[in-house]
Amino acid sequence: MTFKGLIKEIRIMSSDFSYFEDPKFSEKVTIEALKKDEKGYFVLLDQTFFYPQGGGQPSDQGQLILDDREIPIVSVRMVDGEVRHYTDQDYGNLSGQQATCIIDAEKRSLHSKLHTSGHLISNIVEELYPVYKALKGHHFPGECYVEFIAKNGFSDPIDLDFVSQKISEVISENKAIQTKMIASEDLPKLVPTFPYCVPAHSSIRIVSIGDFSYQPCGGTHVKTTSELQGLTITKVKIKNKTLKINYTLA
Ligand SMILES: [Zn+2]
Repeated sequence: MTFKGLIKEIRIMSSDFSYFEDPKFSEKVTIEALKKDEKGYFVLLDQTFFYPQGGGQPSDQGQLILDDREIPIVSVRMVDGEVRHYTDQDYGNLSGQQATCIIDAEKRSLHSKLHTSGHLISNIVEELYPVYKALKGHHFPGECYVEFIAKNGFSDPIDLDFVSQKISEVISENKAIQTKMIASEDLPKLVPTFPYCVPAHSSIRIVSIGDFSYQPCGGTHVKTTSELQGLTITKVKIKNKTLKINYTLA
């Protein structure tokens, strides 16, 4: 969940990637090419089931299983409209080879939980303290936080116990997390406080938790809030009109 760098993410939101709604962790693919850029060697696939890093969420990791070898996929990035699956070394000419892509389901699950937790914290803080608007989220294991800006320019304190109690309530209520694609023209109606412009005539993916307000997002999510057991706020810092909330999943 993040609004920073949204234009870059619009590409993800408007593409038909399978990780959106129906995660597949073992699928047949064809390798189109192995190339190299400044980050290292990467493969391009005819279709992808890997989540590329974005929206404050780390990329998937996994493997490509070929007839005679296994190729680790250590990170995945979207660059210039293509999904680059970075590997650890030069594997030569792989063009046209069939492979099974295996995605690390355990890591994906953790990333989805941490990412969805960011949505939940921002929803709850915005509801309890309307002066704050979520601006940025970072959901890497061990580094998770959500940042809010004070709309009135004053850094009002928040009651951590109150926020934590509300988080526990929503988790125990087993609220559904739902996503859907909408036309960019409908965004102002559904997310009236969204602070950035989006391209006209594009599709935007939005996510909601229970009855909380929608948030534009291209990340992966859990199905219900009960999967967020153990969500704990570890630090609250208010400085220069910005509220930063760090959190973890115990
Ligand atoms: Zn999200």
